Amino acid sequence: MSGVPAERLSLNTATVRAQWSLAECIEGCARHGIGGISPWRDKLHEMGVDAAARAIRDAGLSVSGLCRGGWFTASGALDQSVIDDNRRAVDEAAALEAACLVMVVGGLPDGSRDLPGAWKLVEDGLAATLDYARTVGVKIAIEPLHPMYAADRACVNTTGQALDICDRLGDGIGCALDVYHVWWDPELEVQIARAGRERLMAFHVCDWLVPTRDLLTDRGMMGDGVIDIPRLRGLVEAQGFDGLVEVEIFSELDWWTRDADEVLAAVLERGRTAC
Ligand code: ZN
Repeated sequence: MSGVPAERLSLNTATVRAQWSLAECIEGCARHGIGGISPWRDKLHEMGVDAAARAIRDAGLSVSGLCRGGWFTASGALDQSVIDDNRRAVDEAAALEAACLVMVVGGLPDGSRDLPGAWKLVEDGLAATLDYARTVGVKIAIEPLHPMYAADRACVNTTGQALDICDRLGDGIGCALDVYHVWWDPELEVQIARAGRERLMAFHVCDWLVPTRDLLTDRGMMGDGVIDIPRLRGLVEAQGFDGLVEVEIFSELDWWTRDADEVLAAVLERGRTAC
């Protein structure tokens, strides 16, 4: 399978979050010929939603996703403030014409051991957000996170678990598949086929380094680790996924310390050779 050309790549702004503002990311993507961008909300708020939407449109970029909504479990109940923040995230995704709003759903509430209770909070929060998102035409994409994050970030940990939720909630909700989180799953191929085109809403790439020095911020550049990214891309594309390949690398020890243009040059090269 041949690699991914620049115009089919999207830059998740976390990849250069230590170096660049959103305005700089937009300008950098345009300059490197990258086809899309996926902003994080902190950078989006810094720039202002309207200004960002305009700059992204003017640069001719598509928005492969907005990162991120969710965090439904923080207080141990479904607070109105959490629902309201997710509605704002939906509105921001609409303003950016984002392909989806990516959901990191939240882990266990502080001090809790009630995992089934956390699952219920998550599903109730997703249902409430989805009701609103349908009225403005925004798609909701659950990002299953690697099980090592079940306690502190997201208690939806496999593609199958995410699709079970989608089955119960109906139209307008699907998955954002990040190779970092799902590559290890022996059921992945079956679950990608089960998801089908409609529910495959985003595809995130980076690599799993051996050894991994930090559980959150030591992701590798594509090709530097052990994930067979071309195989996984082949599986989603076999279902008809034709969205952008979004590069999302948290790398405190390496890529965040480099010049951002050097990072983007590496992203382009590895898009061609390792994706
Ligand atoms: Zn991701």
